[in-house]
Amino acid sequence: MSALLDARDLVKHFPMRDALGRKRGAVHAVDGVSLTVAPGETLAIVGESGCGKSTLGRLLLGLIPPDEGQVLFGGENLTALSPAALRARRRDMQLIFQDPFASLDPRQTVQDAVAEPLRLHGIVPRGQEATRVAALLSRVGLRPEHARRWPHEFSGGQRQRIAIARALASGPRLVVGDEPVSALDVSVQAQVIELLRGLIAEMDLAFVLISHDLGVVRQVADRIAVMYLGRIVEEGPAEQVLHAPRHPYTRALRAAVPGSGVKQAPVAGDVPSPINPPAGCRFHTRCPHAEAICRTIVPPLEAGVACHLKDRLPPFIALAERAPDARLAHLQSFFRPGGVAA
Ligand code: SF4
Repeated sequence: MSALLDARDLVKHFPMRDALGRKRGAVHAVDGVSLTVAPGETLAIVGESGCGKSTLGRLLLGLIPPDEGQVLFGGENLTALSPAALRARRRDMQLIFQDPFASLDPRQTVQDAVAEPLRLHGIVPRGQEATRVAALLSRVGLRPEHARRWPHEFSGGQRQRIAIARALASGPRLVVGDEPVSALDVSVQAQVIELLRGLIAEMDLAFVLISHDLGVVRQVADRIAVMYLGRIVEEGPAEQVLHAPRHPYTRALRAAVPGSGVKQAPVAGDVPSPINPPAGCRFHTRCPHAEAICRTIVPPLEAGVACHLKDRLPPFIALAERAPDARLAHLQSFFRPGGVAA
């Protein structure tokens, strides 16, 4: 299937300036990222805070321009559109923010918040707005009479439902959700994820889920791209990335999911500064497998993995998925020098 969204070699650096306005380095937020999303497909972009995934989400929607590279949406180059043409194209591309308390204007009723995209893009006549808003609220599990209320009258989960209704009002073909459930209680998270799953299937939406949480991602993603310090380090079908991760960083993230059954030390140290990212493989300062080549040569993303040692690392198998004998052998390996498998 041809891609609805096709991002090529995106680069975005944010310059840093001193008090006199002189350039003093730059934050390397996104560095050479390419990805595609097919119609109806959910791609999850996963990584720790500060890895550049939110900046990438905004680049994909044309909300900020890339320094290099281009974003094709339905074959049209967003980076070459005039501001007016880009505004019109936004009807097809929407964003759901992380914080349901900040994403809604406290001075707007729910009716006005959800109707705003309808007006902006001239989607329905004014006289039909109330009916359309009521239908959208029902679809996200709220009642039509909620339209008359104000955002502060709702819980976090309800506000996120309102934000979802607003994002879907214009009938988009692509939605980017930037940590759409991470600000919610766990029980509410499950309900909102279930709602998103239903809407994605029903509307045949292309969905880009940005998240730090593999536990959330595995509930909705068809494919997963793992980011580390501005680059994609692993990409592939969700099943493969979750159950047979090949990059040491993905393995560490996977091992950290509660109940994964994977025995592995957490990644050592902090994420290096994106102002001065490490040379070579950016993960080399924290990677237990790093060799000399890793410190100088950038590993290309080949066959879905950006790691010089990808064909030499031991297989990754969660303890819960091992046969009993293999499980015992794995446990014994902890007592042999250097014996812990991935
Ligand atoms: Fe680790 Fe080297 Fe692979 Fe980077 S390239 S993940 S440092 S083994």
